[in-house]
Amino acid sequence: MAHAFDHILAELERLYPDAKPALHFRNPFELLVAVILSAQCTDVKVNAVTPALFAAYPDAHALAAAEPLEVEGYIRTCGLYHNKAKNLVATAKTLVDSYGGEVPADHEKLTQLPGVGRKTANVVMSCAFGADAIAVDTHVFRVSNRLGLADANDVLKTEQQLMRSIPREKWSLAHHWIIFHGRRVCAARKPDCANCTLSAWCEYAQGNPKGKK
Ligand code: SF4
Repeated sequence: MAHAFDHILAELERLYPDAKPALHFRNPFELLVAVILSAQCTDVKVNAVTPALFAAYPDAHALAAAEPLEVEGYIRTCGLYHNKAKNLVATAKTLVDSYGGEVPADHEKLTQLPGVGRKTANVVMSCAFGADAIAVDTHVFRVSNRLGLADANDVLKTEQQLMRSIPREKWSLAHHWIIFHGRRVCAARKPDCANCTLSAWCEYAQGNPKGKK
């Protein structure tokens, strides 16, 4: 008999066959910048500012030469703009000084860049370099713990458990499926369980203690 996880993954795949990153980018540098900007900000707001930002600073060399104050002017609507501008310029300087202006395709090197945590590094590895990775953002954390794909109180444990629950070749896709589901059906405050086609296998909908809020 198929495990609940198999049903959940098959249904997510059926629901979101064209799931892909919501952030707009054309290369690893643009993705890295966009993901740094997306901390505590919506992808829609990030996508609204990046065209002008990328026109002004098309690569790491241009951004490394900028003053953070100038950069702030482009990203003000993204929140935490003061810190984000500082981190963007510092990250660009590290890319220029240590990696010839390129974004390294290496998880550990990415996490050492200013403003880049584990989640950002996972997104870049997965979406820019095609590596298998599951980035646990707020949607992935909430939805996967409700479903019972994970049973954890923090993002790192959730990531580790998802890597065990989901076959490796589906990690990156499943990350996008779960984000789509969190945006469209399983909202933070009001999950639409009555209309959710995953409810039969969902710990939260079934009232099981494992399905966390
Ligand atoms: S059944 Fe409810 S809690 Fe479970 S995934 Fe669907 S919307 Fe979320």
